[in-house]
Amino acid sequence: RISKMPHHKTLDAYDFSYQPELDPRRVRDLATLAFVEAKANAALLGPPGVGKTHIAVALAVAACRAGFTIYFTTLDDMVRQLKAADAIGRLASKLRTYLRPHVLVLDEVGYLPLGRDEANLVFQMISKRYEKGSIILTSNKAFSEWGQVFGDEVLATAILDRLLHHCEVLAINGPSYRLKNRLAVVDTH
Ligand code: ADP
Ligand code: MG
Repeated sequence: RISKMPHHKTLDAYDFSYQPELDPRRVRDLATLAFVEAKANAALLGPPGVGKTHIAVALAVAACRAGFTIYFTTLDDMVRQLKAADAIGRLASKLRTYLRPHVLVLDEVGYLPLGRDEANLVFQMISKRYEKGSIILTSNKAFSEWGQVFGDEVLATAILDRLLHHCEVLAINGPSYRLKNRLAVVDTH
């Protein structure tokens, strides 16, 4: 849903000098959208404020401009929607919302731990999308922590197996851009 996405984010507006550990070439490679063509995935990992959502949105906007269909959601919002649909027997039709677009942005994976039924809904979506369409996900959790996020090691492994089979993983381990100016103020005192 492009309307729910902060669609003014572009790669040009991303200051790579602020994240020296992130290789700009890896982001520019993603921006060629070859991974979207290949129905592969991209994962942006790191702590809050490093620009995960910014880059995910910039890639989705580029994909949209190139004629691909996109859908933006947080993981928690998707889970809420799928649960509500499941409760009234409309899971299959709601799943199609997340299966149809060429690019699905799944923002904020891992912010809240999921229950078993919720994790199972995520697994259904991931396994149905596998090799059919791209996912760009952002997460503040390392993959090794996904067992805790999804409340079940076996389920987390099954999700990661499909997600990571064809996936560019970018770890952004640096300072929060949100704190940039505040830290600068502290530094001058
Ligand atoms: P995250 O999703 O990793 O928590 P965001 O992508 O929401 O972080 O970034 C937080 C804010 O800082 C956003 O307004 C984003 O546009 C901006 N931002 C983050 N990193 C950079 C950067 N390197 N250059 C320019 N703006 C950035
Ligand atoms: Mg974010």
